[in-house]
Amino acid sequence: KNFEDYHLSDEIRKALDALRYGTPTEVQAEVIPRAFENRDLVVRSQTGSGKTASFGIPICEMIAWEEKNPQVLVLTPTRELAVQVREDIANIGRFKRIKAIAVYGKEPFSKQRDELKQKTHVVVGTPGRVMDHIERGTLVLDDIKYLVIDEADEMLNMGFINKVEAIINELPSNKVTMVFSATLPKDVENLCHQYMTNPVHIEI
Ligand code: AMP
Repeated sequence: KNFEDYHLSDEIRKALDALRYGTPTEVQAEVIPRAFENRDLVVRSQTGSGKTASFGIPICEMIAWEEKNPQVLVLTPTRELAVQVREDIANIGRFKRIKAIAVYGKEPFSKQRDELKQKTHVVVGTPGRVMDHIERGTLVLDDIKYLVIDEADEMLNMGFINKVEAIINELPSNKVTMVFSATLPKDVENLCHQYMTNPVHIEI
């Protein structure tokens, strides 16, 4: 497999070159073509497999730059992962001038609120703070086209199931959902079953 196979734009290709991503990792080779088909995906893969770019690359490619409201929501179990994923997406989308912001607890709400007033393509956040922004009307979800639930097993271990479900219920029904998880316990399977449409299962 080769990144040329996916007919990526020059902007994304250039970013991958700058990041020195020469060839797709296994998870990228599986996920990228499926994501371009707009399929819901359940992906079992470990951290370190290149999973962030596996959704970051197709999502950055599909974002419409002109739209002001967020088009992508990524939920992560921890602040550290939110910061990391935001940075990876910003790097992949750099030459497309994609704006990604991270929202998480322990950082002033007002700073994030002000950031969210600007054009934002991608919001990456932990469930608690994402819910706060939804409830206070500072995060507009009307134009979300892609939902990514990263480290879903961790998210549920940490007791975020109700918050994740409440957030999903605020999103447009016409969207693509991608769930990434190192393990697929029953509660993750149930969540996928309940909120996804005929998902493709990918196991790395
Ligand atoms: P992740 O599993 O998303 O945490 O990624 C693990 C590491 O692999 C990160 O440091 C990425 O920058 C790096 N990486 C992701 N995709 C590739 C690729 N195609 N080639 C080389 N390194 C990559």
